[in-house]
Amino acid sequence: MKVAVGMDIGSTTAKCVLLREGEIIGRSLNPVGVDIVRDADRALQLALQDAHLDRGDVGFTTGTGYGRFKIQFGQLAVTEISCHARGAHFLFPKTRLVVDIGGQDTKAIRVNERGEVVDFAMNDKCAAGTGRFLDVCAGALGLDVADIGPLSLNSRHPVRVTSTCTVFAESEVTSYVSRGKEPQDILAGLHASIANRSLSLLQRVGIEPEVTFTGGVSRNEGMVRALSQRLGLPVNVSPLSQYMGAIGAALVGEERLHGGAS
Ligand code: ADP
Repeated sequence: MKVAVGMDIGSTTAKCVLLREGEIIGRSLNPVGVDIVRDADRALQLALQDAHLDRGDVGFTTGTGYGRFKIQFGQLAVTEISCHARGAHFLFPKTRLVVDIGGQDTKAIRVNERGEVVDFAMNDKCAAGTGRFLDVCAGALGLDVADIGPLSLNSRHPVRVTSTCTVFAESEVTSYVSRGKEPQDILAGLHASIANRSLSLLQRVGIEPEVTFTGGVSRNEGMVRALSQRLGLPVNVSPLSQYMGAIGAALVGEERLHGGAS
């Protein structure tokens, strides 16, 4: 049986998922550079290798993410808002609110019981409150972004980060370092500041459980805890949360493959 491919080309990373009869059978995650056409091709190749398949096994490809129109082998392009909603509903069927924090934007998406988008709000005007903000601040602390979440969980005296602009936040981080503040306390302050910004966005669409956190920043445990604390609600997160857009795209493709409506 042919597979449905979901390909999410984001600002930092290409995510590819292979779906067969509602089951994820292969996936890949690789950085996006200047040549998106080549990166998309590589993402597909890696996901096919992961599933021990080849291009002849592909039945339908759906693209999403900001680079979706550059996927030359794609048959359909769908917005990441719809795809994150579909993906989150697939993994957590009781989801009513999705918060997607990626490399360059943050989205709040209200979904109904069928995983359809009811309302959404987006911050894509600046990097504040996005993965980019954390990447820059991690860099200012000399840390890898994968390490900042676990480290922040050790914080006992979080600092207050007041800068909302990424550039100013970077200087604020440097200033806290020179004043002898511990990295974990600076990181906890940064996470709290993003959680605050996300909360305002979520309030615009209405907060209703269950809440599912998607996008690469959901891999950051410190951010998951900060968001959950600020919301006063548990937050669903899956090890596949960064793939949520690609999963949603593959689900749309699987419906097309089997002749259903999408
Ligand atoms: P995009 O779709 O725009 O490429 P993603 O949803 O893939 O964005 O998220 C990318 C962001 O995820 C990065 O900017 C980074 O901050 C964060 N991220 C990626 N991997 C990890 C990790 N292992 N731990 C913590 N954060 C991560």
